[in-house]
Amino acid sequence: MIDAATRLYCVFGNPVRHSKGPLIHNEAFKDKGINAVYLAFEVQDAAKAVQAVRTLDIQGASVTIPFKESIMAHIDWIDPLARAIGAVNTIVNEDGVLKGYNTDCLAAVVPLVPLGISGKTVCIVGAGGAARAVAHGIAAENGDIIITNRTEQKGQALAETVNARFIPANEVTKIQADVVINTTSIGMIPKADQISFPPDALTSDMVVMDVVYAPLRTRLLDAAQQKGCTTIDGLSMFIAQAAAQFELWTGITPDTDVMRGNILTTD
Ligand code: NAP
Repeated sequence: MIDAATRLYCVFGNPVRHSKGPLIHNEAFKDKGINAVYLAFEVQDAAKAVQAVRTLDIQGASVTIPFKESIMAHIDWIDPLARAIGAVNTIVNEDGVLKGYNTDCLAAVVPLVPLGISGKTVCIVGAGGAARAVAHGIAAENGDIIITNRTEQKGQALAETVNARFIPANEVTKIQADVVINTTSIGMIPKADQISFPPDALTSDMVVMDVVYAPLRTRLLDAAQQKGCTTIDGLSMFIAQAAAQFELWTGITPDTDVMRGNILTTD
């Protein structure tokens, strides 16, 4: 029931109309009997979005493309891990003090930990915000990281930060990786017909993960499945980062099956 005591949570992004955040968080609030609502706001300006949080006393916000970096200048405190990654995807309003966190990082390794990361060669395709979060997560689990990216300078900079090797995009076929993770937007609508890693370089003993979750079955995951690889889709990471946000906001661990179920049953 929405009434005068209902607490407001939201996501800021642009574009944001495709966001699955409202489906996940509202279902979890309902499941846990919390009087709160989560809305999607398509905004133009990070500073004005943060001002809205303060003015309307919004209790928490998810932050997505393209504001994960620019929002950092406008909040009051940044968690050291989010500072190291250089991106905030979660704002927590603690009695008027706006705190920033990055839940993408731990979420990225949640689906991989059961398969083992330590000592494995992990090729991360991309060097944007998602790549930085994934790379810090894999580094924390002692994976041996190789970064490849279209813009070499950005790829090299990320590789240095996490003590990894960099390989130019045209040399990825030479890599002997145990795990390949696409962190670029290649494969995501409207680039769903594109593929982020050459299928010829995939072998059946590899684990292939895609952080893209729209669509869930990307061309990369299709190719990997055809080669007999173990595949992990972007929903696992998406649910894990949302669950961590929910916990930061409410102190309550959500039921991830409830979150996942509502996405899978909603087109
Ligand atoms: P970003 O910071 O803009 O980075 C985009 C990355 O993709 C860069 O490495 C960029 O390379 C590369 N790229 C884009 N178009 C390319 C092309 N045509 N050819 C080669 N490389 C290309 O974006 P982001 O925030 O990292 O997000 C990337 C993807 O991750 C999005 O699809 C997003 O939805 C997804 N994501 C998923 C989750 C989850 O929970 N599952 C969480 C976060 C993000 P350059 O450096 O050369 O530009």
